[in-house]
Amino acid sequence: MTKQTFTRRTVMGSLAGALAGATVIGGTQAAAQTSPAPRANQPWDVVVIGAGVFGSWSAWKLLKQGKKVLLVDAWGPSHARASSGGESRLTRTEYGGDQIYTRFAWESLTDWIALSKKAELPIFQPIGALYIYQKEPATLAASAALNKELGAPMHRIERAELLKRYPQLGLEGIQFGVLQPTMGALMARRGVQTVVKEFVAEGGTYKQLAIQPPKDGAALDAITSTSGETVRAKQFVFACGPWLPKVFPDVVGSKIKPTRQEVFFFNADAGDVRFDPPQLPAWVDADEPGIPYGFPSLESRGFKLAIDAHGAKVDPDTNDRIISAEGLKQVRAYLARRFPGVSKRPLSESRVCQYENSDNGDFIIDKHPKWENVLIVGGGSGHGFKHGPAVGRYVAELTTGKLAKAESRFALSAHKTQG
Ligand SMILES: Cc1cc2nc3c(=O)[nH]c(=O)nc-3n(C[C@H](O)[C@H](O)[C@H](O)COP(=O)(O)OP(=O)(O)OC[C@H]3O[C@@H](n4cnc5c(N)ncnc54)[C@H](O)[C@@H]3O)c2cc1C
Repeated sequence: MTKQTFTRRTVMGSLAGALAGATVIGGTQAAAQTSPAPRANQPWDVVVIGAGVFGSWSAWKLLKQGKKVLLVDAWGPSHARASSGGESRLTRTEYGGDQIYTRFAWESLTDWIALSKKAELPIFQPIGALYIYQKEPATLAASAALNKELGAPMHRIERAELLKRYPQLGLEGIQFGVLQPTMGALMARRGVQTVVKEFVAEGGTYKQLAIQPPKDGAALDAITSTSGETVRAKQFVFACGPWLPKVFPDVVGSKIKPTRQEVFFFNADAGDVRFDPPQLPAWVDADEPGIPYGFPSLESRGFKLAIDAHGAKVDPDTNDRIISAEGLKQVRAYLARRFPGVSKRPLSESRVCQYENSDNGDFIIDKHPKWENVLIVGGGSGHGFKHGPAVGRYVAELTTGKLAKAESRFALSAHKTQG
């Protein structure tokens, strides 16, 4: 296994290629405010285990609070089998009026935009987000009011206008749409890897280490890697995504259920731009069974489609990554009705990922019941990516004591075990 260790010194010197071609961006001013690593034999202030979207943003936000932070991951930031892996994620503030997630998404967007501006290639693509409805949702008025309060534009588009604007959409059964013109797509892998690159450039340390589940005991002051390395810290943040049940079988266990999710890409006919931005925004077919959603062809990757309904329970270590014939058949039948222009095109790419679902879709951000200095962070439940920056800020506030207690909806005790 290749081990990678990045400190500020190595990042300033030769990060080239270390984080998938990352280049060094500034960071000297911020680095001067933080101490990169503890002195010999001293523990880290915080070790964050898991460099997915939650762990990476948490590590960076903790560093900005002046903490000496080590971020580790068993395979690397946003690797192919992580829930944060892959190409694109939808960001939106249409959350049925839910205060927490609407505000988290809105707060996070500011950070994503700032990161995108610094990055060589875009991380946020403001292609718009369109929801199409067969009936008026009961929560739409509350959502519109909350978005208005925040200043997030949200426009209702009647069916006749939808037909004019989006002739590539088959609108069978659709009454109206809602467009959030300033929302859109986050480039997932690129986004997380850029966060880690910034974290390192500002004085944080990233290391490739697979951490063993902590042993039962009165206190936790050190963790051990599978290669036998011991890492000491005052505080630990475990942001291990769909692996959390394996790390904490007793405390998390089936409170998080990883499920198999298939993703499909189709290229339109040569020269057909109807499925490219800006002709098509990101979209959600809100009342269709399974809630299909997708993206126009971002960076020429192809029109993307996925079904939000949870697939079978899987183990992230053994789940094979080959789409099912049944899934492809289901998707083609749907495309024939809603996106006939690509329904007969050959599949150009596919991916199999996993959601890491809590019982009700709420995140889990809570202290370990026995160890005060251990925070468990996960349960993104198919909608977590966009919230990475707000979750990171929240984790930093809980870890530094600025926030005394986690939101009750995020508590471990608020979540049931699942079959
Ligand atoms: C197909 C798909 C589509 C999605 N669409 C959207 C969307 O449109 N919008 C949206 O907002 N969200 C979306 N999501 C959800 C979102 O991507 C996830 O909720 C989020 O990425 C979870 O991040 P995480 O950091 O918790 O987990 P992960 O990204 O899985 O990161 C956990 C990390 O922990 C590491 N790790 C685990 N165990 C150990 C260990 N013992 N030692 C060291 N490292 C360890 C892993 O290697 C991994 O890198 C989607 C998810 C999927 C799969």
